[in-house]
Amino acid sequence: MSADQVIIGLEIHCQLDTRTKLFCGCSTDYRDDGPNTHVCPVCLGLPGTMPAVNRRAVEYALRVAKAFNCEIPEECEFSRKNYFYPDLPKGYQITQYDRPLALGGHIVIEAEEGGEKKVRLTRIHMEEDPGRLVHRGGGARARYSLVDYNRSGVPLIEIVTEPDLRSPKEARRLLAKLRATLEYLGVFDSEKEGSLRVDANVSIAGHDRVEIKNISSYKGVEKALTFEITRQRSLIRRGATVERETRHFVEARGTTTASRSKVEEHDYRYFPEPDLPPLRVASWLDDIALPELPDARRERFMQQYGLSINHARTLTGDLRLAEFFEAVAGEDPVLAATWVADTLLGELNYRDRTIATVDPIRFRSLLSLVGSGTITDRSGVEVLRLVLDTPEEPASIVERLGLAVTGDDAVATAIAEVLAEQPQAVADYRAGKGAALNYLAGQVMKKTRGRADPREVGRRLAEALAE
Ligand code: ZN
Ligand code: MN
Repeated sequence: MSADQVIIGLEIHCQLDTRTKLFCGCSTDYRDDGPNTHVCPVCLGLPGTMPAVNRRAVEYALRVAKAFNCEIPEECEFSRKNYFYPDLPKGYQITQYDRPLALGGHIVIEAEEGGEKKVRLTRIHMEEDPGRLVHRGGGARARYSLVDYNRSGVPLIEIVTEPDLRSPKEARRLLAKLRATLEYLGVFDSEKEGSLRVDANVSIAGHDRVEIKNISSYKGVEKALTFEITRQRSLIRRGATVERETRHFVEARGTTTASRSKVEEHDYRYFPEPDLPPLRVASWLDDIALPELPDARRERFMQQYGLSINHARTLTGDLRLAEFFEAVAGEDPVLAATWVADTLLGELNYRDRTIATVDPIRFRSLLSLVGSGTITDRSGVEVLRLVLDTPEEPASIVERLGLAVTGDDAVATAIAEVLAEQPQAVADYRAGKGAALNYLAGQVMKKTRGRADPREVGRRLAEALAE
């Protein structure tokens, strides 16, 4: 390992997309509702209540463990993590400590230097999500705090990686792969706000490591790590020491700041949860059938549709995108892949929209207009923008704007006119100046008001000049 090698490990919390919470029957669909409307005596931690494990949540966690080739111990157990912070009303979090659900396993990503790389997992355990605190009256010196227990008790899995990542880019790729896999498994919804939170451990080889807490966006992870690596390298260059500490990511500024909790190193006094028996779920694995996962789908897209690895990778990197592609692939899947991966995604990104907002039927009509040569690629982009921004049908847009490729006669007339009007350019071309052809083609395109197919114009112009 080189002297300034970056070493990154992640702890990733993902909300499992179950209907109800981990230890009670409260609905997890709380995001549009008022504070403290999805609570009951169990998730409020009232005395005398007993938790009961949500079977579906355990099954979801096992699906994830199986997909990443983890080892499932015969028996696992919940523990209490004790701390005094009001985001959990009980005064402790039910989590797993020394006997987690799953050990080992790995996630395959594309390595920074190319090729594939296995990022090892330390463990996957289950725990309950804490509630949400809202501080009022300004930052750290808030005058008072409000607490909302709607989220309290939502099932989480915490996935801990070994320190195998070597750059912020690899960290981003790992999260993208994780997100895609969880969505293929049907256990996670990345579009729900706050459904994924990441803590990142980062160090430069030979120096102490820093933990960055609670990064809540995919882009945030790469930004936070990039900032932190620059900060640590500059300390080392100046001969200063990298302090072993916990820092917070300030999303708005893209920086990390030291958090005060450094002085109060926690002793969580873990002990086995006395209200829940140990779980013996290893045998459930046999009944869990995994669906086609992103890597397998990528291979299939290359085999079945003849896609390039880059298109196949892009299109399978998101479940909804993969499904959209298959819905529009039609007779010319390579054309469809190009339009979806290269053109549509760019237009969606620009509009800050997701693939779920695109009507596959209208998109397919657009593809057949381009595929049949009815409109040029350039007009296709124009039609696509209108398909995204208005409810109009592609055929009607083409008709209304007169975008259909002009028929042979009009091109022939335009070529004849241009050749008559531009004797100098014609002479230049015949004298061997190839660039004159582009000029003449431009004049023909102008006369046909850009509706002719440029490749067709070039070919026929060259033919006419050869006569
Ligand atoms: Zn509840
Ligand atoms: Mn945790």
